[in-house]
Amino acid sequence: MKEEFKIVYLGDPILREKAQPVQEINGKLKEVIEKMAMLMYDVRGLGLAANQVGISQRFFIMDIAQKEGTPKLEIYINPEILSAEGETEYEEGCLSIPGYYAKVKRYKHLYIKAYDLEGKAFERELTGLHAIAFQHEYDHLEGILFIDRLSPLKQELFKKWWKKHKPSFNK
Ligand code: ZN
Repeated sequence: MKEEFKIVYLGDPILREKAQPVQEINGKLKEVIEKMAMLMYDVRGLGLAANQVGISQRFFIMDIAQKEGTPKLEIYINPEILSAEGETEYEEGCLSIPGYYAKVKRYKHLYIKAYDLEGKAFERELTGLHAIAFQHEYDHLEGILFIDRLSPLKQELFKKWWKKHKPSFNK
C-alpha cells in the first residue's frame, strides 16, 4: 500500500470500478483511514471514499460537523442503504473533480447500515447534509460520480469545462 495518499482525479479508471467489500477490519485499515482523514481535513473535503485515494474497497469517511468548527469523523465500512425516501437538492462538489460544483438531486432521508473500525455493525438514520454526503460517497464505491447524475446537457457543458480545467499536475 502506498505511503502517502494522493487524491485521484476524474479520468483515473479506479473511480469507475465497483469497489470490493472489506474482508478484514484490522490495524492496517485503521492506519489507512487515519491517513485518509488527514488528507480530507487538509483539503477541507466533507468526505472521501477509498477509491479516491487509489484503494478499490468499500469504505469511506466523512465529516459534516467540521463546517461548524466541531470536527467529528464518521467512518463507514461496507456500507449499505437499507431504505431511502424524499427528495432534496444540493450543490455538490468532489475532490476528484476539483473546482466544479453542480446541483444534484438526492434522497432526503436514508436508513443505512455499516461497520465501524471495531468491526461492529451499526444502523443509523441520516438526514440533511449527512444523507447527501453519504449518497455521494456511496456512489463512489459503485463507480458513480456526481456528474453522472446531471442532465445530458449539463454533462456536455461539464465535459467542455473539464477539458479546460482538469488538473495538469495529475500523475
Ligand atoms: Zn466525490
